[in-house]
Amino acid sequence: MNMERVLVVGAGFMGAGIAQVCAQRGLSVSLNDVKSQALKVAMSGMAASLAKLHAKGLISEPPDQVLARVSTHTALDDAARADWIIEAAWEELALKLELFAELGRLSKANTPLASNTSSIPIGKLAQAAGHPERVLGLHFFGPVPLMGLVEVVKAPQTSEEVFERGAAFVRFLGKTPVKVGRDIPGFVMNRVFAAAMREASDLVADGVVTPEDLDIGMKLGYGWNAGPFEIADNAGLDTFARINVFLRSMHEDGLVPRTDMIERMVAEGRLGRKVGKGFYRYDAQGKRHPWGQED
Ligand code: NAD
Repeated sequence: MNMERVLVVGAGFMGAGIAQVCAQRGLSVSLNDVKSQALKVAMSGMAASLAKLHAKGLISEPPDQVLARVSTHTALDDAARADWIIEAAWEELALKLELFAELGRLSKANTPLASNTSSIPIGKLAQAAGHPERVLGLHFFGPVPLMGLVEVVKAPQTSEEVFERGAAFVRFLGKTPVKVGRDIPGFVMNRVFAAAMREASDLVADGVVTPEDLDIGMKLGYGWNAGPFEIADNAGLDTFARINVFLRSMHEDGLVPRTDMIERMVAEGRLGRKVGKGFYRYDAQGKRHPWGQED
């Protein structure tokens, strides 16, 4: 592929993962975040993940060599040099509109501008960027180094060429693209997951079932690899709460729980695995335990 430099904007759970897989494929990555602490956490998270992959023989290159291709920044200067730009900042419409306006101004004429948004229609971001034909969705799944799927989303304004380049880029990263030609909130996979998560959350909030039993049920009964509450804890409940705010604003009631349980958990600091407490509790080794159960 005629491409060397990638700018990833937002260095959280998803941005760090996207940066890592790009670096694993030999690309030079500029990782940006407004918080320098987030960049530090991202670098140590990538180092730990690469070390595990290397120990298991899943990558042959030494982790240090991969990491040497990632530089970290709190300014967006590298937008002018990037061949690909992928935005993975918080799921907030106003924030992403501002970012796309800036990225549109700073980027080179031929650089695709991708968003990893979970729920925001790409057309809204395309309009803000000033070069709508270059904007598309690349919806990765977390943890990015382990998950094989990326939805490639076409807004009405996205050019066919950029849509095809998106699918080719995903294949280059070693992932499988699923093309989504309809620019609707949540695209395809998150609409299906959100509908399941909505019912699961309401059943737990109504006291019908515990998160652990529901997760076991979906794994044993339907062959899911992880239950919805395990997935939610891994993804981050603050991210889920932000997605719910946006989906409510779009009147997507079928995709949002009736209960405000997740919002209350976030207010109590139960953000999921990253802080050791969410629907489950996590010990120092990262092992999952039912909420309220002592060691
Ligand atoms: P996160 O909270 O882990 O990370 C978001 C990062 O964005 C933070 O480090 C924050 O400091 C940074 N940020 C905020 N404003 C910024 C700005 N103006 N410029 C640069 N950085 C900024 O969130 P996440 O889970 O990584 O989610 C990121 C995006 O990916 C969201 O749009 C989310 O909906 C989407 N997504 C998340 C998942 C998931 O499983 N968590 C899966 C697919 C897509």
